[in-house]
Amino acid sequence: ASNKGKNTVIKEEIYALGTVIQIQIYDADEEKAKKAIEESEKRVQEIENKMTVNKEKSEVILINENSGINSVQVSPDTFYVIQKAKKYSDLSGGAFDLTVEPIVKLWGIGTENARVPKQEEIDALLGLVDYNDVVLDESTNQVKLNREGQAIDLGAIAKGYAGDEVKKILKEHGIKTAFVNLGGNVVTLGSKLDGSPWRIGVQNPLDERGKHIAVIEVVDETLVTSGNYERYFIEDGKRYHHIIDPKTGYPAEAGIISSTIVTNSSIDADALSTSVYVLGLEKGMELIESLENVEAVIVTEDKKIYVTSGLKDRFKLENEEFQLAN
Ligand code: ADP
Ligand code: MG
Ligand code: MG
Repeated sequence: ASNKGKNTVIKEEIYALGTVIQIQIYDADEEKAKKAIEESEKRVQEIENKMTVNKEKSEVILINENSGINSVQVSPDTFYVIQKAKKYSDLSGGAFDLTVEPIVKLWGIGTENARVPKQEEIDALLGLVDYNDVVLDESTNQVKLNREGQAIDLGAIAKGYAGDEVKKILKEHGIKTAFVNLGGNVVTLGSKLDGSPWRIGVQNPLDERGKHIAVIEVVDETLVTSGNYERYFIEDGKRYHHIIDPKTGYPAEAGIISSTIVTNSSIDADALSTSVYVLGLEKGMELIESLENVEAVIVTEDKKIYVTSGLKDRFKLENEEFQLAN
């Protein structure tokens, strides 16, 4: 069959996982593209319904309600994401910790109830945070939290998983060129139509949304950023953001204001961007350089930018207020 159509861009915005998801498909077959978008929307909704902690009756909420009591059997989706979250909790030495939920809830950042908790309140919950208490049974997809009061939160990784799943669906539909933005998590399929790489802006952590400090060229990869500008509140002149250091129970203060990961898998990138943010420059860089095919851009409080070796020739600084440090 001949394909007479010319490639056009088919764009759609969907709202899920607490964010706007933009899908841009470049293809001659508009009908096919629309089908792929429809299926993607369903899939992302399904992932949200299984993994959210904000609605009733998700699989994650069921696990949390049964902490210290029962194992809960979950879908392969949820089991896979929890497995990954536990893996990165371990790999990051607990900088990433999927059991940080009680502390996240206490701060309420991003909700109407956001506030600075008392030290006693943090102390009372901090002991519950320990990813080693997540017990996984791979033969039955059962998940158990050892102690009552423990709870998991997949907010730092589920969007990454959704990005991978959308990409898979687009590919299954035969699409070869696409750009997906899940609230700042970018996933690309192939290169641009003219064969050149996608040029993706790195958000300026100190400026309004849409202003970038640098551009990174990617082909078929994903780019995920964690930053202190995403969700926060300000009290007495101090900014309290939504990435928690599981060791202190406070928003992470390791000197980083944004960490960006470039790699093939978006679930990995999401977990790692959060991990690096908490770990800080030195340990964060060490972690990323130890991994194959994973690159990072770290922006520190003093407006310095650190880029991993494998990314240097595709990274372009575009803001003079920031300085390349390595
Ligand atoms: P964003 O949600 O802005 O993309 P992240 O991917 O970094 O940012 O995820 C932040 C979310 O992950 C928080 O809102 C919270 O639900 C959860 N979280 C916060 N701190 C941690 C942590 N240290 N480890 C795992 N999850 C975390
Ligand atoms: Mg993340
Ligand atoms: Mg993120």
